[in-house]
Amino acid sequence: MNFKKEELYFIPLGGAEQFGVNLNVYGYQGKWLAIDCGLGFADEHFPGIDILLPDPKFIEDRRKDLVGMIITHAHEDHIGAVAHLWTRFRCPLYATPFTAAILRMKLGERKECRDAEIIEVSPNKTINLKPFKVTFTPVSHSVPETAALFIETDAGNILHSGDWNLDPQPTIGAPTDPEPFKKFGEKGVLAYIGDSTNAEVEGTSGSETDVEKGLSALFKECEGRIAITMFASNIGRLKSICLAANENGRQVALMGRSLHRMTAAARECGYLKDVLQFVSDEDVGYLPDDKVVMVLTGSQGEARAQLARIARGDHQEISFKRGDTVIFSARPIPGNEREIIAVKNNLAATKVRVISPRDTKHCIHVSGHPARDEITQMFQWLKPQCVVAVHGERSMLEAHAALALDCQVPTAIVPNNGSVIRLSPGTPQIIDHVETGILAVEPGRIIDANHQAIVQRRKLQYSGAVHATLVMNARGDLVSDAQVSTVGLVDPDDKDGQKFEDDILDEIEDILADMTREELRDDNFVMEEMRIGIRRFVQHKLSIKPKTSVHLVRV
Ligand SMILES: [Zn+2]
Ligand SMILES: [Zn+2]
Repeated sequence: MNFKKEELYFIPLGGAEQFGVNLNVYGYQGKWLAIDCGLGFADEHFPGIDILLPDPKFIEDRRKDLVGMIITHAHEDHIGAVAHLWTRFRCPLYATPFTAAILRMKLGERKECRDAEIIEVSPNKTINLKPFKVTFTPVSHSVPETAALFIETDAGNILHSGDWNLDPQPTIGAPTDPEPFKKFGEKGVLAYIGDSTNAEVEGTSGSETDVEKGLSALFKECEGRIAITMFASNIGRLKSICLAANENGRQVALMGRSLHRMTAAARECGYLKDVLQFVSDEDVGYLPDDKVVMVLTGSQGEARAQLARIARGDHQEISFKRGDTVIFSARPIPGNEREIIAVKNNLAATKVRVISPRDTKHCIHVSGHPARDEITQMFQWLKPQCVVAVHGERSMLEAHAALALDCQVPTAIVPNNGSVIRLSPGTPQIIDHVETGILAVEPGRIIDANHQAIVQRRKLQYSGAVHATLVMNARGDLVSDAQVSTVGLVDPDDKDGQKFEDDILDEIEDILADMTREELRDDNFVMEEMRIGIRRFVQHKLSIKPKTSVHLVRV
C-alpha cells in the first residue's frame, strides 16, 4: 500500500474484530500516531494460551516516522500489551498521571523496558505531535483519568473516544463535561472513532453512585462475611464498596497483588484520600464475621487470582464457609465465561451464597461503556461527518454504525483489523487493507496466534493423535514389529486401548503388503502412504480424523 502525504488515514490494527487487543494508528504527512496497545484474553480456541496481543509489525516497520503512542486509560485491553511489545517500536508513551503510574509499574518490571520514556499529560492539556495536535479530554469510565482524544490536523478533526460513559454521578472524578465536546463539534468533526461495546444496549449505563447504594442495601442483608470481586483498576467501585461497608459497620480488606498495586497508584495520584485505611490480610481472621468485607481479585475466573484460590481451598489464610456471601461486582468479558462458571461451581460446593448482577434487585454493577442513549448524545454534540465503529465484537460494531446512520450521520464504517480508512480527502471510506494479526503469549516467548503449534494443539484436543514408527531394511522389509502409540483415542471394544493399537498394526501390515518393491524403497512414499492409510483406518473405525505421524528408520 502506497500512503500519500496529503491523505489522512485511520487504521485499526487490533480491536475491531474482537474484545481486547486494541491498537490503532493515524497517518498524515508521512507520520504515524499510535493509540492504545492492549491485550486480549484467549478462549479455548488457543489451547495453553491465556493472553493475546495485537501484532505491532505495522508500527514497527514505520518506527522512524512514529511520533508517539498515547494510552487513553489504564484498562488491560488498552495498556496491557505495551510492556510485552515496547522494544519492537520504542516510541515515547503519553498518558494522564494515573495511567502513567500504571505504565511505569508495568514497564519497570522488565529491564528491557526501563529506558521507555513516559510523558504525563494532565487532563484537558494539549500536546503537539506534529502533524497531530491532541487534547486529552476527561471522560467518566470505570478507571480514573480516562481520556478521550481530540485530534486536530490540517486535513480535519477527529475524536478518538477511547472508552467512556456519561455517568451523572461517578464516585471518583467528575461526570463527562459536555462543553468541550460541543465546542469541538462547532469546530467541525470529520470523524468520530468510538467505543461500540454497549451499542446493542438500550438506555444509559447508569451511575456508580447507584452501585454504592445498591451494595449498601445488599450488605445490610448479609449476616456472615462478605467477599466481593471486581476489576482491580475500578477505583470508583472500590470507593463505592468502602462507603457501603462503612455504612454497615464493616471494615474492608484488600486481597490480591493487583488490588494493592492499583490502590497504591490511586493514592499516589491523590485518590481514595477520604477512604479509611484497609485491614491487612493477616488481620481479617481476627475480625467478627459481620464486621468484614474482603475485596478480591479474580472476577473473570482467573485460576491464580484470590477468589479462585479460596474457592478451591487453595489459600493459606482464608476459606469460605456456610453463611458467607460472595458478590460478583463485574460482568464477564467475552472469552472468560467457562472459567467463571468453574469458580462459581467451587463456591457452590463450599455452601456460600453467590450473587451476580443478574441475581439481585440491587444495583451492584454498572458498565463503563456508553449505551445507545449516551452514544446518541455524543453524536448530537459532535455532529461528525463520519463514524467509525471500533472496540467490540462484530455485532456491536454493526449496531453502532446502524445507530449512527439512524442519527443522520452521513457515513458509518465498520472496519476489520487492518482496514485502511482514508478519512480525507473525499468521503471517508475503506480503500485498502494492511497485514496485521494477533500474537499469543507463551511462557518466555511470543508467537503468532495462528502458529502451527497452536493449530496442532487445537486439532489434538478434538481428534487425538496416532504415531507409528517403522524400522525397515534397504529392501523394504520390516526388521522388527512396527510401534504404534495413540493419544486421546477411544477404543469402543477395549478399555485399555491395547486392542485398537493392535488393529492399527494389522492395518500397517496390510498397507505395506499392497506396496511394490520399488515403492517400499522410497522413504517419502512409504511415510506418506502410511500416514494417509492409518488416518483413513482410524476415521473408518472411530469417525474422527486424528493427527497422524509416521517415522521411518532404515537400517
Ligand atoms: Zn476498553
Ligand atoms: Zn476501559
